Amino acid sequence: MTEHPPTVVAILGSTGSIGRQTLEIVDRHPQRLRVHALAGRQVELLRQQAAHYRPRVVCVATPAAGAAHDITEGFPPDVEVLVGPEHLASLAADRTVDRVVVATVGAAGLAATLAAADAGRTILLANKEVLVAAGEVVTARVRAGGARLYPIDSEHSALWQCLAGERPQDVAKLILTASGGALRHRPAAELAKVTPQEALAHPTWQMGRKVTVDSATLMNKGMEVIEARWLFDIGYQRIEVVMHPQSIVHSLVEFCDGSLKAQLGLPDMRLPIQLALSYPGRWPAPALHQSVADLPDLSFGQPDLSRYPCLDLALQAGRLGGTYPATLAGADEQAVELFLSGAVPFTAIAELVQGALDAHADTGAPTLEAIEEADALARRRVMSLASALSR
Ligand code: MG
Repeated sequence: MTEHPPTVVAILGSTGSIGRQTLEIVDRHPQRLRVHALAGRQVELLRQQAAHYRPRVVCVATPAAGAAHDITEGFPPDVEVLVGPEHLASLAADRTVDRVVVATVGAAGLAATLAAADAGRTILLANKEVLVAAGEVVTARVRAGGARLYPIDSEHSALWQCLAGERPQDVAKLILTASGGALRHRPAAELAKVTPQEALAHPTWQMGRKVTVDSATLMNKGMEVIEARWLFDIGYQRIEVVMHPQSIVHSLVEFCDGSLKAQLGLPDMRLPIQLALSYPGRWPAPALHQSVADLPDLSFGQPDLSRYPCLDLALQAGRLGGTYPATLAGADEQAVELFLSGAVPFTAIAELVQGALDAHADTGAPTLEAIEEADALARRRVMSLASALSR
């Protein structure tokens, strides 16, 4: 057993997929990790988590309107209960916390990430939209605040591991792997008829609903390219995407001498989550071992951009820079929500995002205000484009 005091963690988004898996890591390493704060949107689950993990503070991250009184009931008496997403920032900046897990979905995590950056915290970032929409602002504030940014995304965790001990000038390329998602075997002509249920049946990864749909469109991979650009401070011309349906090689780095380094492991998010919590060390994880001889055959191929227009849209938005990536992220979140509610077909996701990008007039420097404006405008444009579609 370790003699060090436990690492104190705050988990923003504790009732979502990444948040719940982070708590599984806490269960596995109770002597190494202590939960100080939890924030989530599913109130009943948050009550159960508060009773089990006994954090000092919880935040019900739904808007307070009306029901605030009822919402705060049912938590242990010694737990401080905050209501409203505006409290995420103060939890993230709390100096008693060693590591802040930002596992909120979509735009919700941006203010919290910036607060943690300004306070010089160690940020474990699972919410990729934060870097997609505001990568330039976030990485600048991380540097200025003396904060640290650790990835909780299997591809970026892989790149992080492959880059360890290497010099930036020796890196030729980052190569992100993509499984192809739930619909990779469906003929392109049938994609318009795909139901939300079919798009949510990911063959190799257990993840939240939004990221699973983004995996089926490959929007997720496009966003990960943007995420990698900011996390590793590297130009888009040196980031590639390769199809790899087995999800065993989580990403690769190619060096100037032609050598490739890859990181392999079972497709299980608990692995990158635990590494971000244990870094620079590693902790045992008995459930995640498999004999190399039993691994499936590994295959790689080029992505078909005509089949996956969202990948192309994300790459274009990334290269255009400014507030285009924020427009992409906002439009995609709205379009995926419309698809999941049955309002638009699967293939409309790309059309709606494209429509929002086409209509966007860039405002130049991506200030936080401009980013939030672009995000909100993109959502409104998607709503009006969608209602025109259904007419
Ligand atoms: Mg990923």
